[in-house]
Amino acid sequence: MFFIGVFGINQKSDLVCEKHGIICPICGAYGRYEVYKNYNYFHIFFIPTFRWGKSYFIKTYCCNNIKGIKDSSNGKLENNDFNVSYYDILFE
Ligand SMILES: [Zn+2]
Repeated sequence: MFFIGVFGINQKSDLVCEKHGIICPICGAYGRYEVYKNYNYFHIFFIPTFRWGKSYFIKTYCCNNIKGIKDSSNGKLENNDFNVSYYDILFE
């Protein structure tokens, strides 16, 4: 039996939350942003079996930025009441 093509590694992005009517943490404008969770997963027969390498990023619509979010802020992001601040963003 051959397993070529039935398992592999993929990367996926899930929308965590969407905020409207907020002050943008990057440019300071009144706008909207979305927070996404990025992760790698290993799949067998297209069924995800385990995940690793979780990271978050923010996408803003006012200034069209996509920026990473610091690992230290990850726990807070699962809570929908949380607002991303300037200090949570990774500026390269
Ligand atoms: Zn902005």
